[in-house]
Amino acid sequence: LAMYEAKSAGRNCFCFFSPHMNHIAQMNAGIESDLRDALNSDQLFLEYQPIVDTTSGNYVGLEALVRWNHPVRGRLCPSDFINVANDSGLIGRMGTWVIEAVCKQIALFAEEGIELPHIAVNVSPKQFQYSAMCSEMLNLVSKYAIPRGKLAIEITEELLIDNSQKVHEQLATLRAGGIQISIDDFGTGYSSLQYLRDLPATRLKIDQTFVSRIETSSADRAIITTIAHLAHALNMRVVAEGVETEAQFTLLRTSGCDEVQGYLLGRPLSVHDLYNLFKDGAEP
Ligand code: C2E
Ligand code: CA
Ligand code: CA
Ligand code: CA
Repeated sequence: LAMYEAKSAGRNCFCFFSPHMNHIAQMNAGIESDLRDALNSDQLFLEYQPIVDTTSGNYVGLEALVRWNHPVRGRLCPSDFINVANDSGLIGRMGTWVIEAVCKQIALFAEEGIELPHIAVNVSPKQFQYSAMCSEMLNLVSKYAIPRGKLAIEITEELLIDNSQKVHEQLATLRAGGIQISIDDFGTGYSSLQYLRDLPATRLKIDQTFVSRIETSSADRAIITTIAHLAHALNMRVVAEGVETEAQFTLLRTSGCDEVQGYLLGRPLSVHDLYNLFKDGAEP
């Protein structure tokens, strides 16, 4: 790692520099301007991963996951560009695009007589810093006549760390507007349980790291069972993510998980596949 001196805006600043970091910085700068373009054309799209009820086996939800059809690099996954979106501030516009795309999808399917289960959208903590976010979301919900409960957001524990009054108000506003709230990746962030008590959340999603160890680790089984008890006591439903095997599914169901999501139940689906799955009323 070499240190070099750069003169910018009339003052000296010292930067740590390595060819590798320079490469990443350039790549990210490229992604940032490309993402700006992508938001003005039709390059982003969504896939929808099914969420299944462990008792009935019915599809009870979908999680919308953003993808990017990049003109040169081809198909990109969120890990390729979400960080850049967050750091550049483009996440605000991207988030609005995602919410509108989901609302449109629900409305389009409804016109075809197809009723989708609720659709959950990931919202990063950064998005809560935009004061217009909630009103924008609620405007879209009303513009597309989305029934109460049809739209959900997934937030992470990170959002709740500072326990700010502002965030609580935003969440309460969304909840009052008929938007469900899931706590995503639960167990991986700051585990102050205090915030759970006051939070208007409807679902708690157990992170896939716990799920992946459930067969071999009795400690992880105990953690999952305990999380499920806690969530139920707080009137939340419990979802397990990243479920890949039958054995995991069985253990999760007997550990008290209400819903499961993962490759075992279904990969993220294109709109076309979603249509085929739900056109005749979905019964897995
Ligand atoms: P996440 O919210 O935890 O989403 C679950 C991720 O796990 C998805 O990756 C999904 O494709 C993957 N997955 C689902 N089932 C399985 C499984 O059985 N096994 C394994 N190994 N993986 C599984 P994806 O689509 O690459 O998304 C990664 C992350 O990007 C998401 O993690 C979420 O945090 C973020 N993200 C995705 N879409 C959006 C979006 O529209 N807005 C924002 N802000 N973030 C998004
Ligand atoms: Ca999620
Ligand atoms: Ca997750
Ligand atoms: Ca995750």
